Amino acid sequence: MALISLKSVSYTYLKDTPLEKEALLNVSLNVEHGERIGILGKTGSGKSTLIQLIGGLIYPTSGEVYVKDKEIRKWNSKELCKIVGVVFQYPEYQFFAETVFEEVAFGPKNVGISEEKIEDCVKSALISVGLSYEEIKDRSPFHLSGGEKRRLAIASILAMDPEVLILDEPTANLDPRGKLQIMNYIDRWVDKKQKTLIIVSHDLDEVMRLVRRVIVLKAGEIIFDGPSERLFMSYDKLEEAELDLPEIVRLVKILQEKGYPIEGAFTVQEIV
Ligand code: ADP
Repeated sequence: MALISLKSVSYTYLKDTPLEKEALLNVSLNVEHGERIGILGKTGSGKSTLIQLIGGLIYPTSGEVYVKDKEIRKWNSKELCKIVGVVFQYPEYQFFAETVFEEVAFGPKNVGISEEKIEDCVKSALISVGLSYEEIKDRSPFHLSGGEKRRLAIASILAMDPEVLILDEPTANLDPRGKLQIMNYIDRWVDKKQKTLIIVSHDLDEVMRLVRRVIVLKAGEIIFDGPSERLFMSYDKLEEAELDLPEIVRLVKILQEKGYPIEGAFTVQEIV
């Protein structure tokens, strides 16, 4: 049983209006337990639409999405939140609570986790992102630094202990230090708890470090789905995906350092 399965999924915004926009076209894929998947593609390629469909926030215009073999419309939203946790772009813009504790506790309370377990959930989620519970729990979420805010927003999803963690551009607009911290905390949490990770990013560095399988979208269609090193060894696919070349050069270097056999495909010099 695949954890998540998309069968010929299409999604059209504003269907039957003059502004109709086909955002995803006939997308099929399976996500197995424990996989780490990166979704790549330039702006407008359908990445956010895809994760909203997986998170049950929107339903396909045609085709089906299954979570644990049950069609997504049949899931109760609270039960689905315990399986699929989605951290959207710039999640800190959605803070609403007066204290960090309340911000993180909202999700677990909402999905029915018992009152006596809430404190442990909040504590462990904050620790997972490197925030000290005692120091931070009574502070206002709005007064934290940029990196702390992002980590808090991620913690509020981790507190529900979802089986699949989906992150949309988790390190966007952070400085290199903040970015590295977040990547490390995500990596450790997923590893320690044996979770499934889906990460949307245009930061290829982040994708290479965190995932093993990449799915590349172009104009709503999957143009590549396979091991990340295979994508980075295929110049044709990279060109087709219209991904950022300087980023790719850096990645090829990382792959070479890790000892991947790049020589059969292309070298850094060839693509600079
Ligand atoms: P990405 O996340 O890769 O940037 P999106 O999934 O956000 O891509 O968007 C895919 C396509 O759907 C784009 O052409 C975008 O303009 C369009 N789109 C996204 N959201 C909406 C919306 N709410 N209404 C109309 N069109 C939308």
